Parts: sequence; C-alpha cells; structure tokens
Amino acid sequence: MPLKNPSSSFAPESEDLDRIDVAIIGAGVMGAATAYWLKRINPNLSVALIERDYSFSKASSTLSASSIRQQFSCPVNIQLSQFGIQFLRTVSDHLSCAGEAIDLGLTEPGYLYLASTDQEPSLRAAWDIQSRHGAKIALLSAAELAKRFPWLNTDGIALGALGLTGEGWFDGPALHQAFLRKALSLGVIKIQGEVKAIRCESSGQDLRYAKSVCLADGREITCGALVNAAGAWSSSLVKDLEIELPIGAARRTVFVLSCPTPLTDCPLLIDTTGFWLRPEGRFLIAGMDPRAEEDDLPLDPDYSELDEAQWAVLAHRIPALEAMRIERAWAGYYEMNHFDHNAVIGPLSGFENFYCIAGFSGHGMQHAPGAALALAEWILNGAPQTIDVRPLGHDRIVRGKPLRELNVIG
Ligand SMILES: Cc1cc2nc3c(=O)[nH]c(=O)nc-3n(C[C@H](O)[C@H](O)[C@H](O)COP(=O)(O)OP(=O)(O)OC[C@H]3O[C@@H](n4cnc5c(N)ncnc54)[C@H](O)[C@@H]3O)c2cc1C
Repeated sequence: MPLKNPSSSFAPESEDLDRIDVAIIGAGVMGAATAYWLKRINPNLSVALIERDYSFSKASSTLSASSIRQQFSCPVNIQLSQFGIQFLRTVSDHLSCAGEAIDLGLTEPGYLYLASTDQEPSLRAAWDIQSRHGAKIALLSAAELAKRFPWLNTDGIALGALGLTGEGWFDGPALHQAFLRKALSLGVIKIQGEVKAIRCESSGQDLRYAKSVCLADGREITCGALVNAAGAWSSSLVKDLEIELPIGAARRTVFVLSCPTPLTDCPLLIDTTGFWLRPEGRFLIAGMDPRAEEDDLPLDPDYSELDEAQWAVLAHRIPALEAMRIERAWAGYYEMNHFDHNAVIGPLSGFENFYCIAGFSGHGMQHAPGAALALAEWILNGAPQTIDVRPLGHDRIVRGKPLRELNVIG
C-alpha cells in the first residue's frame, strides 16, 4: 500500500522530529541507499536515518569483501546484480555531490566457480538459469582453465564457470559513504540514536500500524512509514513485535594474504572445497567455511580457520600459496537469513506501513542499489517497478515457502 499523505513541505531541520514521512532504522548501505532513492523519487518527502553508530565500526557495510557477481541461482538475484553493475559503472552520475567524481575502483575480472565431478551438475544447472537471464558466463574444461590460469592446479576439477562481464569487486565502504553523503545532501535527516522500541497500533483488518520509534535517550519519533534496515540486528530489533524474521549475525573471517608470486588475471575464485580468494591491491583476500556456526559471536577473526590443514588445501589448488604469509584478518557479520539465504524486501506481513530491507546473507553490497530502489518504489507507489523483488517478500517466510539461493559463498 503506498505511503499515505506524505508531507508537502521540504524536509524539516534535524531538530524537528514531529512528523517524519519515512523513518529508516540503520544507516548502513541499505538504509542510506533507501533514503537516497526515496528523496530522488519524491524530494518533498521527509526522510530520517536513525543510526546508533555513525562510525559503523560493526556494520557489515564497513567489513564487507565488496564483490559483485552474476552467478546466482535465483533470477531475482541475477536481476539485482545486473542493475548493480550498471549503477557501479555510472556511480558518479547518481551519487556525485557538487560534481565531484566518485572512484570506487571497480574492476571486473570475473568470478570463477570450480566444480568437482559431483558438483558439475549443479554448476551446469546454475549456468543454465544465469544464461537464460542474460548473464555472460563461460563454462571451461580443466584443460581450458589450466591454459588460461597457469598458476591453478586443476586436479579434481571437472568444470569451471567464469563470468565474462559484470563480475569483480569495488570499494564497498566508499559506495556506502557515497550513498550517505548524497542522501544527506538531498535533505535526509540524520539522527544519532539507538532504537529501543517500536510503538504500534491496530489499523483494523488484522493489520498493525508502526506509529513511532523510541530511542535510548528518551526521544520518540513519529513516522508515516518505518523501514527496518538494521542488517544483522534486524531480528533483534523486532523481537518484541512477534514478527517472524529469521535473520542472524553470522560471523565471517576475511584473511589478508601476501604471495611472492603474482597470480596473473586472478578472478574471484571459489574452490570445490568452499574457500574463496581474490586479489586486493598487492595482496589477496580469502575466506573459508566458518568453524563456529552460532550467531552473535564476537567480531574477532577466527585464525583457526586458516590452520596448517587449510593452508595445504589452498596450496594444493594454487601451488604458489605454499609461500604465502597471513598479513592480518578481520571479521564481520553476514546478515544471514537462516530460512533460505535470501534478502527480505518489502512490507512486513501484518503491517500497513512497516517495511524491511535486510537478510542479504553476504551478498548485499552489490544488491543495495537495486534493492533499495525497489523498496523505495514499493513504499511510495505500492509496488516495486524497476526490479520485481516480490519473490523476496516477507510473506514467503510466514507461508513457510523458501526461495533458496544455492550460490552462497562461505
Ligand atoms: C565479511 C563479509 C564479506 C562480505 N562480502 C560481500 C561481497 O563480496 N559482496 C556483497 O555484495 N556483499 C558482501 N557482504 C555483505 C554486505 O556487506 C552486506 O549485505 C551489507 O553491507 C548489509 O548492509 P546493511 O545496511 O543491511 O547492514 P549494516 O551495514 O550492518 O548496517 C546496519 C546498521 O544498522 C544499525 N543498527 C542496528 N540496530 C540498530 C538500532 N536498534 N538502532 C539504530 N541503529 C541500529 C547498525 O549500527 C548498522 O550500522 C559481506 C559481508 C561481510 C561481513
């Protein structure tokens, strides 16, 4: 249902919190991008971003590996990536402030998924879906892989899938900051504070209406529509409202490695064993399947994930890594949707005006531009228009009908 009676005046000053058209909880990349699109579509709207930590020290948007791929198994994710890559290539046209160019360091060497004989059928099935939806992915035999990437040991590899365009990496934190800066320049109100409670009332027909949010410092902000963009904390934010939102904070460690021998034209490689690796400047970064699976672990890197045995697995695939060094590591939270590893975008079931954009399960940075546009359209016009993200709606969770994304990394 579209937003009712948005204010006709320009955005109020930061202190004037009497009536906010759309309040967004969380100013990570999802919140910032949603605020940006709302103001782009309707400059007269009053939009507030409520964030407890503007240093974003624990936010996934700061701790991301910030890569983009077309190789998903769900068509809606492929569409979001197609929009994402176009947006990244032309980012200055969208987010430049005062004509300044934005350099995200976007590079497109591709993703390379490697498959063993057992994994080959699912790689081919995913390729089929991707190709039917316009992604340019080459299937390469072991011999072709060995020729193209001489530093790769192709033992045990039956097939590889290499993205030919639209796949690579970029500076995700810079994209986040660019969204935030642009949103604020368009008049989005920045509120520093932690949301402690959400006040709701019944609006008839079994629907609830999110009326206001209460901050830790005692302020209460009344809103016409509310957005949950709280990332890995989006479930705990609504725990008192009996909303089914199976999103948890799943820690992932990223290792920074140095390797004396350069790996020429190295794409983002996903091994048959599950580790991933890609260049980052003069280093490599890599991640393994986590050892500890519980949610909410402290954000300390788990160095045990790259022990001697795992080191041998890396060096088996890329012999030059025998001589690698672990430079450092960091940890961040995947905002993991434990239900089906996909985002939740759109109105929360049972609510008239409470929306969600969370649970991207480790692939949200690349999807933020398209997902946030779709949500802004949903809020303002009653339905997404540019990209039909309705398959990612919250009702699938309530109905127990998962939309499983099979290509989740790490
Ligand atoms: C290690 C790692 C690697 C990744 N690699 C990739 C990748 O290669 N490609 C890709 O596309 N994606 C990747 N991602 C995922 C991507 O970074 C996330 O999907 C994206 O950043 C999520 O953004 P967000 O705005 O939802 O969450 P966040 O950036 O976490 O923002 C949520 C914000 O909400 C705030 N908040 C929470 N609760 C409250 C409250 N009660 N009151 C006020 N504020 C609150 C938090 O402080 C936080 O700033 C990776 C993530 C990690 C951790």
